[in-house]
Amino acid sequence: MMIMIWADLHCHTTCSDGSTSPEELIRLAKQKGLKGLSITDHDTIEAYSKAIPIAKEEGIQLGTGVEFSCQFKGFNLHLLGYDFDLSSKEIIQASIERKKNREIRNKQMLEQLKAYHCFIDYEELVDQAKGSIIGRPHIAMAMLKKGYIKHFSEAFQSYIGEDQKCYVSGFTFSVEEILTIIHQGQGKAFIAHPHLLPLKFPIHDLLQLDFKGLEAFYCKLPEKKWVKIAQRKNWLLSGGSDYHGSFKPHIEIGCNGVSQEVFNTIFSKPVT
Ligand code: AMP
Ligand code: ZN
Ligand code: FE
Ligand code: FE
Repeated sequence: MMIMIWADLHCHTTCSDGSTSPEELIRLAKQKGLKGLSITDHDTIEAYSKAIPIAKEEGIQLGTGVEFSCQFKGFNLHLLGYDFDLSSKEIIQASIERKKNREIRNKQMLEQLKAYHCFIDYEELVDQAKGSIIGRPHIAMAMLKKGYIKHFSEAFQSYIGEDQKCYVSGFTFSVEEILTIIHQGQGKAFIAHPHLLPLKFPIHDLLQLDFKGLEAFYCKLPEKKWVKIAQRKNWLLSGGSDYHGSFKPHIEIGCNGVSQEVFNTIFSKPVT
C-alpha cells in the first residue's frame, strides 16, 4: 500500500534516547518536507514544552504522543499513546514512576556489567543523557566511550540485549495499566511496531484489548499483515520512522508515516 507521508508519528528526542533536541527535531521535520509530527519519547512528554513554540513558528502540526514500555503475559511491549492532554496528571504521574523504575533498573544493569569488567558509575551514565529518561542506549554509549566495546550495537549483542547476561527487565506497568492511564488522559492507545514482537508473543490475546489501532507503517518493514489485521478489527493504522538520530543512524525521519487524512483522524486536538 502506498501512502503519502504527511506526518511522522514516531520520533525520539534527547528527552529520551534520541540524539536530536525537540527544537532541532521540528526544524529537521520541516526541512524534510513533513507537515505533521508526533514526538513519542519513551516514558516522557517533556519534549512538548520545547517543541510547541518552534512547531508554531515553522508551521508544523503537532499531535501529542508518548511510547510507554509495559508488559503483557511475561513479554515486553511498547504502546503508543496519542492525542492525550499534556496536562493529564495520570500520564505525568506514570512518567515519574517509569523514571524511578528505570533508575533502579539502570543501576542493576551497571552492577551486572562489573562482572564483565565494565565499570561505569551511575553519574557517568547520567552524563550521557540530556533528558529525564535514561535507557539502554545511554549505557551502550557509555560503554563505547570507555572503550569496553568497539561498536554501539555490541552492547546489545553481547551484554544488554533482551537475551543477554547483563539485561534487566525491571519493573514496568502492565499493558492494562498503561491503557487505563492513556484513556484517563483522553488519549488513544496503539500497539507500537507489532512487527518486532517475538514469534512466541501471544498476539491474539493482545488484539482483544481496548486499542484504537496499531502501528502498521513502521520504519521500512512490510505492513501488509498488520494492515489486514487492523482492518479486520476496524482499527486505525498509525505510522512512523522511530527516528532516534545518531543512536539509530540508518533511520531517517519521515521514512514512514501517515497521510493528512489519517493524522486528522488520530488527532482530534493537535497542540499546534
Ligand atoms: P530501554 O527502553 O532502556 O529498554 O531501551 C530500549 C531502546 O534501546 C529501544 O527503544 C531502542 O531505541 C534501543 N535498542 C534496543 N535494541 C537495540 C539494538 N540491538 N541496537 C540498537 N539499539 C537498540
Ligand atoms: Zn528508543
Ligand atoms: Fe519502541
Ligand atoms: Fe520508539
